[in-house]
Amino acid sequence: MRIILFGGPGAGKGTQASAICARLGIPSVSTGNIIREAIAAGTPSGKEFKTYTDKGELVPDSLVIDMLKERIGRPDCENGYILDGFPRSVPQAEALEEMGVEIDAVISLEVSDAEIERRMTGRRVCPKCGESFHIVFNPPKTDMVCDKCGETLVQRSDDKAETVRERLRVYHSQTEPAKAFYEGKGKLLKIDGSGPVEEITARIFQALGI
Ligand code: AMP
Repeated sequence: MRIILFGGPGAGKGTQASAICARLGIPSVSTGNIIREAIAAGTPSGKEFKTYTDKGELVPDSLVIDMLKERIGRPDCENGYILDGFPRSVPQAEALEEMGVEIDAVISLEVSDAEIERRMTGRRVCPKCGESFHIVFNPPKTDMVCDKCGETLVQRSDDKAETVRERLRVYHSQTEPAKAFYEGKGKLLKIDGSGPVEEITARIFQALGI
């Protein structure tokens, strides 16, 4: 199965992608995580990416499209994958089509801007494996420690209030048209992204029929 997961910043894409992965045994491909790994490694492209992510802007399409193409060409993606955070613009959605990728389902996690701003302040992520948690809504078993790999959790630098507002603005102006692209094809499944994590997961599984 090839699944796209849409949702604003903090809508729960990473958390729900993990749940779908575990259920279907396919990898989650997060362009945001690939970008953060490059930034953490201090590579020349990582340094360039940081100039965009720090401002809450999108990394240019051409760079992200090449990165995605390379990632989904790897053997672990042979039987399908979940795209978490890609496409984020109409040119990216078109590029996916040009690559000949057949998408089975497109999920949109619907969360209000006010709820997103509330969630972001409590988000903590694992710098090693990319798993995300929330200090109130989805806490790790041990305070500030990743359940999956044991690394100490951190707050993302782009989760600051003013950056979150800019990311929301970018989501509405650039990513929602990409969502509309799939809605026009009758592929979009809108899921209420509010409430407990497990309930949202159950809504997604039901919509996907898995
Ligand atoms: P995410 O973890 O998906 O929220 O992504 C974090 C940041 O990485 C975004 O705010 C963008 O700056 C960048 N990014 C991630 N995915 C994409 C994409 N598909 N296109 C452009 N920029 C992206």
